[in-house]
Amino acid sequence: APWLSVRGAAKSYGGVRALRGVDLDLSSNQVYGIIGPNGAGKSTLMKVLGGLVVPDSGEIVIEGVPVSLQNPSVALSHGLVLMPQEMTVVPEFTVSQNINLGNEPTRFGIHSRSASAARAQEALTKVGLEVELSVLASSLQPVERRLLMLAKALAQNTRLLILDEPTAGLPPAMSRQVIDAVLRLRSHGLTIVYVSHHLSEVAALSDHVVCIREGAVSMRLSGQEISKDT
Ligand code: ADP
Ligand code: ADP
Repeated sequence: APWLSVRGAAKSYGGVRALRGVDLDLSSNQVYGIIGPNGAGKSTLMKVLGGLVVPDSGEIVIEGVPVSLQNPSVALSHGLVLMPQEMTVVPEFTVSQNINLGNEPTRFGIHSRSASAARAQEALTKVGLEVELSVLASSLQPVERRLLMLAKALAQNTRLLILDEPTAGLPPAMSRQVIDAVLRLRSHGLTIVYVSHHLSEVAALSDHVVCIREGAVSMRLSGQEISKDT
């Protein structure tokens, strides 16, 4: 069974019907590539998934439990979902502080500083980012900032990572670093939903490809079916 399902998501902005009833099932350890023309509704769908946009109708079911549309950010507030492009690296914080930001002490006690550092270091290694925990984020290159956000997702036990054009604006070699990091995250059990205009990236990354057209799913393919043609 999928761990998260979107059922009949519909959303209009004024008279513009951005989503016309989208169904999407997401399973663990899988990468879903979302493709489609400009204006198809891809970003709106990502925001519905991430709890940033309240759909007009439809529901989200997480592990069999419907999540109220009145409170869609419940998934976010449980730390299930991370949308790096909606967050920013805090430049005046260190790498370590950025990774642990939002990972507040629980009622079980304050996380020990050494445990936080160890978790942060492990996450950096897993995404292939070679920087010191103590350096300020302001000293990082754009590609390193993106890798830092991916490390944060790992360190905070995010279940679903939503990436809207994660390689936008990066030259090919740096895009490759981001793609490699995403592949490593998949191997660590995250579900990844990935919007890209680059068919070659989608083919390289995706277990499933969902085509969105005029606010609806127009085609579903396996990643292998895409790879054959590219
Ligand atoms: P995509 O990501 O596939 O380019 P979007 O989800 O951004 O598509 O947009 C789908 C449609 O909804 C487009 O017609 C777009 O102009 C419209 N739209 C998106 N966001 C807004 C908004 N905040 N206000 C008004 N219209 C919007
Ligand atoms: P700049 O520093 O020029 O504003 P960056 O590429 O460094 O741009 O991005 C700023 C922040 O937004 C960083 O936290 C980066 O991780 C994040 N970010 C920007 N775009 C994306 C994206 N499409 N996917 C993932 N993270 C993104």
